[in-house]
Amino acid sequence: MSERTALRHAVADRAEMADGRPAWIRVPFHDGPNFRDVQSLMRGLTLHTVCEEARCPNQRECWDARTATFLILGDKCTRRCGYCAIDTGHPEGVLDWGEPDRVAQAVAHLDLRHVVITSVTRDDVADGGAAVFAATIRRVRNRIPSCDIEVLVPDFGFDSASLRTVIDAQPDVLNHNIETVRRIHPAARPRSDYDSALRLLRDARAMGATITKSGVMVGLGEAFEELVETLQDLRDAGVAVITIGQYLRPTGDARHVPVERYYTPEEFALLKSRGLAMGFRHVESGPLVRSSYHARDQLAKSRASVP
Ligand code: SF4
Repeated sequence: MSERTALRHAVADRAEMADGRPAWIRVPFHDGPNFRDVQSLMRGLTLHTVCEEARCPNQRECWDARTATFLILGDKCTRRCGYCAIDTGHPEGVLDWGEPDRVAQAVAHLDLRHVVITSVTRDDVADGGAAVFAATIRRVRNRIPSCDIEVLVPDFGFDSASLRTVIDAQPDVLNHNIETVRRIHPAARPRSDYDSALRLLRDARAMGATITKSGVMVGLGEAFEELVETLQDLRDAGVAVITIGQYLRPTGDARHVPVERYYTPEEFALLKSRGLAMGFRHVESGPLVRSSYHARDQLAKSRASVP
């Protein structure tokens, strides 16, 4: 399918939307025993997950498969991005040094072979929480040496010493999401910076990160070619794995920006093929794709693609 045809389909398919979302965004309902086990584990260990805090549409599927993405450094973010559901607040420098052990305990309980650990942004802490990230990586590795560890890091105020602290703990994958295209970045992420995010990813490689990864949301008002430019920028920064997913407005609250457009599955396929042609080792692209969605498979495919 040509790019023009795919784009035409996207507009035509608007007519199929029932509850404001197209059919391919609807999520099947699961609520089995695994879901409840993951839920009680997290509550019991007073751990947070981005699955819950960010209202991820895949929560039922992932928890039913006994996987979850840990949200460390608390559940209050010091920033307030217009696309994000995570609560904002002022943690005032308080860090929970028992959290790394509890994450390791949960990873062991779930018998994970691949764990994704992310965090809120902590501008109230000098290192942005990098030392807690490093401690969590080490605790998980000590307890479950066979588990691959992926970290999805905030920008740490673009402090290279903080980034180095995390890289020195040797995560298997270092992820930093660029989130959106250059033009929309200042509005969507007012306290971040597009070029600095690219530099962080480049620096991570230079500091020894084996696999770097990033992600972009679509549907915030960007043009298709702007997305292609962002993919190329990420590729030029040495990123190996990329995720592309539909932005979904977390709530109807004025704080959260509306969806500008729903991309079709065909458009996601087109973005995937453009990304692969650029040389990414793996491109995960689809309406419900999130950074950590099927992350274990993403890593396996990226490793398998190395000649
Ligand atoms: S895709 Fe990631 S954040 Fe969403 S439910 Fe699955 S593990 Fe959690």
